[in-house]
Amino acid sequence: MDVRGYVESNAREFIDDLKQWLTIPSISADPARHGDVRHSAAWLAGHLRSAGFPVAEVWDPPGGGLPAVFAEWPAADPAAPVVLVYGHHDVQPVEPLEEWHSPPFEPAERDGRLLGRGASDDKGQVLFHSLGVRASIAARGGLGGSSPRASTASGATAPPVSLKLIVEGEEESGSEHFAALLRRERDRLACDVIVITDTTMWAADVPSMCTGMRGLLPVEVTLTGPVRDLHSGSFGGGVPNPLHAMASLLAGLHDEAGRVTLPRFYDRVLPLSDEERDLLARLPFDEKHWLAEAGESGAAHGEQGFSTLERIWARPTAEVNGMWGGHTGPGSKTIIPRAAHAKISFRLVADQDPADVAAAFREYVAARTPDGLTAAVSIQPAVRPCHSPITSPAVLAGRRAMQRAFGREVLFTKEGGSGPEADLAEILAAPLVFVAVGLDADQIHAPNESVDLSLLLRGAEASAYLWDELAAADLR
Ligand SMILES: [Zn+2]
Repeated sequence: MDVRGYVESNAREFIDDLKQWLTIPSISADPARHGDVRHSAAWLAGHLRSAGFPVAEVWDPPGGGLPAVFAEWPAADPAAPVVLVYGHHDVQPVEPLEEWHSPPFEPAERDGRLLGRGASDDKGQVLFHSLGVRASIAARGGLGGSSPRASTASGATAPPVSLKLIVEGEEESGSEHFAALLRRERDRLACDVIVITDTTMWAADVPSMCTGMRGLLPVEVTLTGPVRDLHSGSFGGGVPNPLHAMASLLAGLHDEAGRVTLPRFYDRVLPLSDEERDLLARLPFDEKHWLAEAGESGAAHGEQGFSTLERIWARPTAEVNGMWGGHTGPGSKTIIPRAAHAKISFRLVADQDPADVAAAFREYVAARTPDGLTAAVSIQPAVRPCHSPITSPAVLAGRRAMQRAFGREVLFTKEGGSGPEADLAEILAAPLVFVAVGLDADQIHAPNESVDLSLLLRGAEASAYLWDELAAADLR
C-alpha cells in the first residue's frame, strides 16, 4: 500500500483518536486544568505506544513544570539520521465561551473541518506524525495489517530515520521550564535535525513552509529631572524637561529611511538572498486586504527598500509601545514634569542577539540623555530569533516532502512567533525545518478554533515522505 492509500484507509481511526484527545481540556495557563494537562500527556504517551513507538514516556520538567511527552522509534540502521519532532499538547484558554458554536472540548465535525480547542494548535498537527510514521513503514512493506494497532503485533519494521518526538505541555503559557528540560535531557534528545510542527501555511491552495521567526526584546526607559514637578512660569526655560528629552530620544530611534539608529543594530542581521526575495514576492499578497486586516491601517509604512512582507518577516524593528509623563488629566497644568516614561519593543531577526541589542540601547539612551537628567533602563525577558536557511539540506528535504504531499510547488513564509524554537536549535545544536499545515483561518487562540481535516491528512502524508527525504539527505 502506498502512503496516500494508507493515510486514506486509516483516516477515520486517526480522526476518532484526535477527537478523543481533544476532549481533554489541557489548558496550561489555568492551574485548575493542570490535572488535565497531565491527563493529556498520559493519553498521548499511551497513543504513541499503541501506534508502535517502542518508547513513549511522560517527562516532568525540572522546577515543577507541566509534563512533556517523549517518544522514540529507532531506525533499523543505527547510522540513519536522527530526527526530533517538536510540538505541544497544551492549549489556549477558551473564553469567551458564549462565542463558541459548539463546546470547545466536545469536538464536532462540520463540512470537512474539525471544531475544537487544540484541533489545529497543536494536537491535530502533532498527531498527524503518528499516522505519518505508520504510513511510511506501511509503504515500505513493513506493517502487517492496514490497522496501526497491528503494527507491533506483526513485528513491523522501523522508520527510515530514527524518530524522536518531544511534545511540550507549557508552550501556551511561555515554555517556562522547557529550556531546562532540554538541557537536562540533551543526550536523549540528541538529533541531526529538528522538525517544528506548530506553524501555518500561506493558504490551503498555497502550501508553504515557515523559515524563521522574529525574536523580541522589550525594554522600558525612565528619564528623571527635578525631584518634583516645577512651575513652568518660574522655572521653564531654565532646566531640562524630561518629556522633551524623551520625545527626542524616541523620535531619534529611526532615521529618514526608517532604519533603526541604535549602534551596531544591523551588524548581525542576515540579509535576504535573491532567491528568498524572489520566493517571497511570489506569494499572492494583496496589500489592500492586508491593510484591512492591519486594523484598517491607512497606508503601508516601514524601512525603505523592502516590501511589506520583507519588513514584517525579515527585518528588525523598534516600536514605541507606550509613553507617558506629566499632566494628562483634564484642563491645563503648567508644569515641567519630574519624569518621563516609555516602553519600547524590538523585533529581532537572525543572527541578532538580544543581549547585544540591549547593550546598544543602553548606549543609545546614555548618549541622548541631556545633562541634568538621569536615565533608568530596564530590560525585560527576551526571545531570540530563529532561522532555517532555504538552501539547507533539511529544508530542501522538507520542501520535497511537502511538494509530494500537495502535488505543487511549496513556497516560504516567516512568522512572528515567540515559541521555544531558538532554544531547541541552540541547546540541541541542530538545524530547524518547519513542516506544518495550519492556516490563519483556523482561528487558533480564538473561539471556534478548527482545522481542515483534509489538510491534516496531507500533513500525515508529508510526514511520511519527510522521513524518506531526510534519510536520503546529507544532514551531517
Ligand atoms: Zn502552537
